[in-house]
Amino acid sequence: MTRVALVGRGATLSSLAARLPRVDPSLEVVTLAPGEAPDDAEIALCWYPPPGSFARLPRLRLVHSIAAGCDHLLADPSLPAQVPVCRMVDPDQRLGMTEFVLWAVLHYHRRLDQVFADRARHRWHWPVQREASGCRVGVMGLGALGAHAAQALAVQGFSVRGWARSAKHLDGVACFAGEEAFDAFLDGLDILVCLLPLTEATRGILGRATFARLARDAAVINLGRGEHLVRDDLRAALDQGQLRGALLDVFEREPLPEDDPLWRDHRVIITPHMASASSLDTIAAQVVANIHRLERGEALLNRIDPSRGY
Ligand code: NDP
Repeated sequence: MTRVALVGRGATLSSLAARLPRVDPSLEVVTLAPGEAPDDAEIALCWYPPPGSFARLPRLRLVHSIAAGCDHLLADPSLPAQVPVCRMVDPDQRLGMTEFVLWAVLHYHRRLDQVFADRARHRWHWPVQREASGCRVGVMGLGALGAHAAQALAVQGFSVRGWARSAKHLDGVACFAGEEAFDAFLDGLDILVCLLPLTEATRGILGRATFARLARDAAVINLGRGEHLVRDDLRAALDQGQLRGALLDVFEREPLPEDDPLWRDHRVIITPHMASASSLDTIAAQVVANIHRLERGEALLNRIDPSRGY
């Protein structure tokens, strides 16, 4: 029997207690509840584990995120340096993310923000229709999710730029690499999409200096992590008309508290961290595949590099 501990919160994580043994009946799944005694589990399957959780798993051999991001794991100082950390990479999640990006970009490109505001005031106003080729869209992060979304935008006719740490070649996308190319990537963008992982280098990247480089009246779509955004800078850019709107799917605190002032700002669209997720079946299959690889001493799938932070 291999013992797997579920560590963290959320319905998806708890549902894996029943799902994993259906894929591999030799797995024994337990939930590591806060404050309980240490556990012998060798595998930790996690979504936002409470800080210090890994110190309670002395026999740990693999830490697996149930999502694409791993920032919530690397932020925990109790994560042992020698234990591999893996994440999800899922073609269906990629398609879902691309759908969401297309919807969000089209919303701003077709000026539906303005149309919905007019509708609330019973105002019939026809927004000028512009060609997609005249709309400059930038995608920050060209990884498993961002690269596909950027190419789908290019197929749709948008003028697309992408930015990553390393050089990329993607059909229809003007690719920029590294910090030195960041300003050139941003200059004059009409819509900016963030699909970066949260690292020390990317924390707060959606701030005043970034907004100032965009076209006036630009829109920002944050699908990465809440900590990418400097909220005070967003409010100032909206007040000054530098930005006309923002779509936020991720927040420092989730769920976003009911009394958060963002809810009252009509210029901000709020979605509940729903841009795209993996199905339970896919998570279970990938986790079990990695457990088998670990047992056979084979290279693990979708292992992240803690020194890079993603
Ligand atoms: P990947 O690790 O596959 O890709 C990350 C991309 O970001 C890479 O292209 C990488 O560059 C680039 N990058 C990282 N650091 C920097 C930097 N300092 N400067 C420039 N580029 C950088 O991640 P995914 O595409 O799978 O996911 C991205 C993020 O999306 C996740 O970490 C998560 O936070 C978020 N997410 C949100 C969801 C939602 O529902 N809202 C769902 C799933 C994920 P390079 O290619 O050169 O390494």
